[in-house]
Amino acid sequence: MSRDDLSGYGYAVLGVAGASLAIALVGKIGHVSNISLLYLLVVLWLAAWVGRGPAILASVLAFLAYDLFFIQPLWRFTVDDPTEWLSLIALLVTSLVTGQLASAVRDRAREALLSQQRTATLYGVAQLIASATDQGSLFHDLTQRLLKVFAPSGVTGVAILLPGQGIYPTVRALAVGPGADAEQQALRLNSQSYAAEAAWALEHGETVGDTLTDTLRRSSTRPPEAPPGESLVYYIPLTSGQRIVGLLAITGNLAIRGLVSPPLSSAANGSGAAALFAACCDQVALAIDRATLQQQAIHAEALDESNQLKDVFLGSVTHDLRTPLASIKAAVTSLLGADVHWSESERREFLESIDESADRLNRLVGNLLDISRQEAGVATPEKDWYLIGDVIATVLERLELAGQLEGREAQVDISDDIPLAPMDHTQIEQVLTNLLENALKYSPADRPVRVTARLIAEPERELEVRVSDEGVGVPASELHAIFDKFYRVHDVRLPWASDRPPTGTGLGLAISDNIIRAHDGRLWAESTPGKGSTFIFRLPIPDETPQGALPDIVPETEEPATVAEEEEARHAER
Ligand code: ADP
Repeated sequence: MSRDDLSGYGYAVLGVAGASLAIALVGKIGHVSNISLLYLLVVLWLAAWVGRGPAILASVLAFLAYDLFFIQPLWRFTVDDPTEWLSLIALLVTSLVTGQLASAVRDRAREALLSQQRTATLYGVAQLIASATDQGSLFHDLTQRLLKVFAPSGVTGVAILLPGQGIYPTVRALAVGPGADAEQQALRLNSQSYAAEAAWALEHGETVGDTLTDTLRRSSTRPPEAPPGESLVYYIPLTSGQRIVGLLAITGNLAIRGLVSPPLSSAANGSGAAALFAACCDQVALAIDRATLQQQAIHAEALDESNQLKDVFLGSVTHDLRTPLASIKAAVTSLLGADVHWSESERREFLESIDESADRLNRLVGNLLDISRQEAGVATPEKDWYLIGDVIATVLERLELAGQLEGREAQVDISDDIPLAPMDHTQIEQVLTNLLENALKYSPADRPVRVTARLIAEPERELEVRVSDEGVGVPASELHAIFDKFYRVHDVRLPWASDRPPTGTGLGLAISDNIIRAHDGRLWAESTPGKGSTFIFRLPIPDETPQGALPDIVPETEEPATVAEEEEARHAER
C-alpha cells in the first residue's frame, strides 16, 4: 500500500474524530436531533475526494464512535435502549451506502477524465502523423510528443529505432527531457549492449528491458542487464499487422515499469497510462509503416523515371550515333575499294560526307558532355561584364565563317541603352548559336532570321534577347516540352527541303535552358505554327553595373574546339 493510500485512512480517523468533537460541542449547547448526520458528511467527503477504503473505515469508525461517546451507557460498546440500535444500524448502513455511491461517481468521473485525456492525446498524435511532410521531422515530432505525454509517468527519454543495414536497429529519432544529455543518451542506446537488447526485441517481438523476458534469460545470446544506478531502458516492439516495423525505446525511473507491464496486449483493454501508452505505440507503428510505404513509392517512381530516361537516351543517342557513323563507314569503304577508280570530284564528295558526319558526331558528343557536366553541377558560369551586342556579333561572325548562314540575311537590332551585363561569354555564345542554328534550320532560306536585344526596366532590370524566324513553328502543346532533354517535335516536315527531315539531337534547347537558368534568367518560346517562332531569354542586370571602360578581355572567336581537343585540354589540366 502506498503512502498516499495510508494517508487516506489517516484522514478517515481524523475526520471521524473531528465529527465526534463537533457533535459533542453541539450537545453541550443543546439537543439537535439527527446530529449523527455529521458523520455522513465526513464519509461523503472521503468517498468523493479520497477513496473507497477510507470511506468504509470512516463508516465503521463513525458507528463505533457514536455508540461509544453519545449512546447510553457512554464509553461502552453496549446500548441500553434497544431503539438506539436502530439509529446506530441506520447510521452504519447509510454511511456505507452513500460512501459506495459517492466513490462510484468519483471513479466514473476519473475514468471519463482519463478517457478524455486519452482521446485528446491520440488525436494529437494522429494529427502529427497526418500533417507530416517528411519522415525525419515526423519521427522527431512523435518522440517529442510522447515524451511530453508520458513525462508524468516517469519517462525521461523516447526514441524510435528502425531496422538498420547491419544487425542492430538504428536510432532514427530521440527526445530527452530537460536535464538529460541527448548525446549521451544516444551513445548509450547505440552502445553495443543496448543495441543487442534492441536487436533481440526486434527479432523476437517481445518487450525487453531491465526485467528480461524468460526466453531471453534462457537464451545463450542474453544481452547484459542495465548497469545498476542507471535509469531503466525498455524496448517495445512496434507491430503493424503481423510485421514488426520498428521499436520504441523509453528511458526513465522505476515508474516506467507501469507503462510496459502489465503486458501491452492486456493494457490495451484497460485504462490509464499503460493503455494510453499501448495505443500510442500502435499509432507510431502505423506512422512508421506509412512512412516506409511512402519511401518505397518514391523510390519506385524514381527508378521508373530513370529507366524511362535511359530508354529515351539510348533510343535517341543510338540513332544519332549510328547515322553519321554509317555514312562515314560507307564513304571510307567506297574510297578504299580497290576495284573502282573514283574521279577527283567523287573522292571529294566522299570526303565532304565524312567531314560532315564527323562534325555531327562531334556536336552530339559535345552536347552530351555539356548536358552531363551541367547535370553534375560543374558547369557554373564564370561571369564577367559584357555588352550583348559583342556576343551577338561574335556568334554571327562565326556562323558566317562556318558557312552556316549560306548567304542568308540575319537582321540585328540592338537598342543603344543596353548596359554591360554579367554573363559567361562562352556560355551565352553557345545559347545564341543554338537558337540561331535552329532558326536557320527550321525556316526557309529566303526568309530572314532576326536577333533583337533590348533593356527591360520594370519590374526588374533585365536584358532581353529575341531570336525569331519565319519557319515551320512549334505546336502550342509542345512549346514547353522542346526544352526537355532529347525532346524533338515529331514528324517535322520542312516543305522547302522535302528530301530529308531535319537532323538534331534534341539537346540544344535543354543545354541553353540550363545555361540561362544558371545565369538566374529564363528562356521560353512563342510560336505560330506555319508562321514562325521566337525564342526569348532574359538575364538579370544588377543595379551596380560597372562604370567606365569595357572589359578588355573578350574571349577569342576561335573555331569551337573539337571534343578530342577538349578532352585533351582537360587531361592536361588534371
Ligand atoms: P534539335 O537538335 O532537335 O534541334 P533542340 O533542343 O535545339 O534540338 O530543339 C528541340 C526541338 O525543338 C527541335 O527538334 C524542333 O522540333 C524544335 N525547334 C527548336 N527550334 C525551333 C525553331 N526555331 N522552329 C521550329 N522548331 C524548333
